[in-house]
Amino acid sequence: MAQYREYCCHPKDFRLLPGVGHAVRTLNHAGLAVIVMTNQSAIARGWLTGDVLGQIHRKMRRALGRVGARIDAIYVCPHHPDDGCACRKPGIAMFTQAAEELGLSLASSYVVGDRMLDVLSGRAAGSQTILVRSGHRPEPAHGVEPDYEAEDLTEAVAWILQQERLQRGQGSRCHAMAR
Ligand SMILES: [Zn+2]
Repeated sequence: MAQYREYCCHPKDFRLLPGVGHAVRTLNHAGLAVIVMTNQSAIARGWLTGDVLGQIHRKMRRALGRVGARIDAIYVCPHHPDDGCACRKPGIAMFTQAAEELGLSLASSYVVGDRMLDVLSGRAAGSQTILVRSGHRPEPAHGVEPDYEAEDLTEAVAWILQQERLQRGQGSRCHAMAR
């Protein structure tokens, strides 16, 4: 959901993509939990501290707040790919932790991401998956297709709400916005 950069290591590098704030607000108003799950191996690599990442996240929350949007929770994997942790996407430990802590059903959730590893982790978590093309770089095929491909988060949210109308019913929903 953030503007794509190889690594965003400073708050000044952080920008919300156009329309992201309104898209998140639409989810908020629909009563859906909005959760960010992010791989931040830059921390393990020593390029980013947890403190600075916290500043970046506060800047994100402020930018969202200016348009009346909010994130319900943020989960971070700070590990290096070689650490073999369970939380780094496409691992699903961040997803199961969020579901447990917030009382959400992963099967009733949507994972929105701009990389195939988001789609892979969402699929492994049993959620519906949406690949957003904004900020997306071409990637090799993984043999896995998202449930939906959207131009941007606005289009992704429109599809999510359409699915919700189709399956209207029970329980709380989780929207994991992976980035
Ligand atoms: Zn991890």
